[in-house]
Amino acid sequence: MRAMILNSVTELEYNSEPLTMTEIPEPVPADDEILIKVTACGVCHTELDEIEGRTPPPLFPVIPGHQVIGRVAAAGKNVKNIHMNDRVGVAWIFSSCGKCKYCLSGQENLCPEFKATGRDANGGYAEYMTVPAGFAYRILEIFTDSQAAPLLCAGAVGYRSFRLAEVKAGQNIGLTGFGASGHLVLQIIKYKFPDNKVFVFARSEAERAFAMELGADRAGDTTDKIPQLCDSIIDTTPVWKPVVEALKNLKPGGRLVINAIRKEEVDKDYLMKLDYPTHLWMEKEIRSVSNVTRNDVREFLEIAASIPIIPQVQEYRLEEANTALIELKQRKIRGAKVLII
Ligand SMILES: [Zn+2]
Ligand SMILES: [Zn+2]
Repeated sequence: MRAMILNSVTELEYNSEPLTMTEIPEPVPADDEILIKVTACGVCHTELDEIEGRTPPPLFPVIPGHQVIGRVAAAGKNVKNIHMNDRVGVAWIFSSCGKCKYCLSGQENLCPEFKATGRDANGGYAEYMTVPAGFAYRILEIFTDSQAAPLLCAGAVGYRSFRLAEVKAGQNIGLTGFGASGHLVLQIIKYKFPDNKVFVFARSEAERAFAMELGADRAGDTTDKIPQLCDSIIDTTPVWKPVVEALKNLKPGGRLVINAIRKEEVDKDYLMKLDYPTHLWMEKEIRSVSNVTRNDVREFLEIAASIPIIPQVQEYRLEEANTALIELKQRKIRGAKVLII
């Protein structure tokens, strides 16, 4: 089969072709796994973190991609309730141990043996992949393959950050950053809590206009100080400035939820602007979002179908994966990027 593989950590600034098209044998599903014929795979900012070594794969070569849609092409002998040709999706959570205190308490995202699709196991930048059957999801009819793909990461992780923000009716909610995840979170909040105010902070004029179109009550620059403070703010940016700037807009007891697997180092010195009385005092708290659970993915897919959330997508062929990644790095973004395979 054809696969776009990553052979080592590299700098995208100097290497515009981090992935190599390679012909490799089709994987064979283990007893509890299914083989998926991949039809679409989303391109995520986390792939940049893997390629540039901020969250490096433990072994090379590896096939990236963790927003996978495809059809069941084979199944191991222990697999039940999944049929040939069923349409399924695979998200960031590839597997967890199923036995530790985290797995047993609904926090499989924190499992010490958590494996991520496309980093710790081969993902969907390929014609086929295998996954434990319990970590695949049915995809509702309403979505096409390429529309469903971005829901599996940006959407599912966005939904988890929404849950961790513990949003209640009547609250003011801030969103700093308005990319793939932010625009989905806005729609979740407006669906679940139509009367809540949502304030968006984004440095790009186009993103702010998009936020207003989707029903934001205000959209301004990342550094704005707003008159109505927020009960919670969700940060979906890859950098530090929005974190510091968001904290000043929190109410006493408010919470900042950071939805990022890694932060880039470029503006880390911005943290020196952190002023304790302005940004942290009054029991403000900061919480990170780590990975996702299968429940997050399932619940989000249902919500997305009932709203409905239909992502805007920009399609690329598998062999154009490097182009898609470089454009993502350069923030040339017109909807979620999806590889069609
Ligand atoms: Zn992702
Ligand atoms: Zn576990």
